[in-house]
Amino acid sequence: MSNDNPSGNGGAVSATLNTLKQFKSAGRGFWSDVSAADWNDWHWQLKHRITSLEQLQRLMPTLTPEELAGAQLAKTKLALAITPYFFNLIDPADANCPIRQQVIPRIEETHTASWEMSDPCGEDSHSPVPGLVHRYPDRVLFLVTDRCAAYCRYCTRSRLVSNAAGYDFHPEFDKQIAYIAAHPEIRDVLLSGGDPLLLSDDKLEHLLAKLRAIPHLEFLRIGTRIPIFLPQRITPELCAMLKKFHPLFISIHSNHPRELTTEVRDALGRLADAGIPLGNQTVLLKHVNDTAPVMKAHLQKLLMCRVRPYYIYQCDLIAGSAHLRASVRKGLEIMENLRGHTTGYAVPTYVIDAPGGGGKVPVSPEYVLCRNAGRVLIRNYEGKIFEYPEANDGTPLFAPPKEIELV
Ligand SMILES: *Cc1c(COP(=O)(O)O)cnc(C)c1O
Repeated sequence: MSNDNPSGNGGAVSATLNTLKQFKSAGRGFWSDVSAADWNDWHWQLKHRITSLEQLQRLMPTLTPEELAGAQLAKTKLALAITPYFFNLIDPADANCPIRQQVIPRIEETHTASWEMSDPCGEDSHSPVPGLVHRYPDRVLFLVTDRCAAYCRYCTRSRLVSNAAGYDFHPEFDKQIAYIAAHPEIRDVLLSGGDPLLLSDDKLEHLLAKLRAIPHLEFLRIGTRIPIFLPQRITPELCAMLKKFHPLFISIHSNHPRELTTEVRDALGRLADAGIPLGNQTVLLKHVNDTAPVMKAHLQKLLMCRVRPYYIYQCDLIAGSAHLRASVRKGLEIMENLRGHTTGYAVPTYVIDAPGGGGKVPVSPEYVLCRNAGRVLIRNYEGKIFEYPEANDGTPLFAPPKEIELV
């Protein structure tokens, strides 16, 4: 299947995709009377977030009954918060707007099934000290805060994030750091949360310095959606501070090409100029990015922002996420339409975080058709079949394998 066919309605499709790939500013929108200094100040953005149903109704008279009911219940489940900057990316005329679906609560969030969980990746059961998840042998997940600049409605950590459900997460950095210091097998620390870039520069610098003082730590990384929700936070001062802690990588979280604005591209450029390798994690979401053309446009646009797509996540079985989850079948179909069809750097690994806590498992279309009779039979992105001669035990072959008939 090709998405590049210029004939038929392919022309219209590629025109839409080209529009999606254009970089546009989010603009001042509803806040046209706010000064540029305030608008570009991340503290102003945080202070003026949309956090109540009343604000939401005032700014968006087109709220659907499902959204109205969802926003009313948000404070008991996962808080409602949207930065003014990100709010401007919502198309109020489109009930299916891909930006809207990610941040505006819906009543479907209260519909749960028996196989859904509040801790779908089994993090709490893999935490030797609160706020530290030690699942893999050589690396740990370090939760820094339970707050984010805005809240994704499908948040896998909504049991604690935003504290609407009463988890009362209080990380104790000293205990988390002491555990890492006492475990020389840990060579990689991933700061996450909540969003680590919500910390002040000073607080974050203090934490990074303490981690860097641990001799066996080789690699530090930060998982953050702040470059997408609050690009104003990526100040030159922050970048100058972060670059003292190399090798430091950052994984951002973007799901749709419209999230990649000129503001975001500039913020990511500042991070890249500070020598920070950037990766992206996308969650496969129904009606947001579950078609091959939209996903491909998004991944290609990330490359234009100097970001290497890292993972596509199958949506975790977090309670109340059924309306946003796309199928594994869809995910595989999208992967099939990426490999070979576009730049290898644009092709991330598609993973399922094993329900209950087995870690990330890659899932991929089958390219190895069989391994026997002195050959590995493979197929390429066009479905053409090739053979690679190799003995069954993996040793090189010195005589060509017997010809087989390929249909
Ligand atoms: C995702 C994750 C990591 C990092 O995994 P990589 O594949 O190395 O990016 C580490 N710990 C936990 C608990 C995770 O969920």
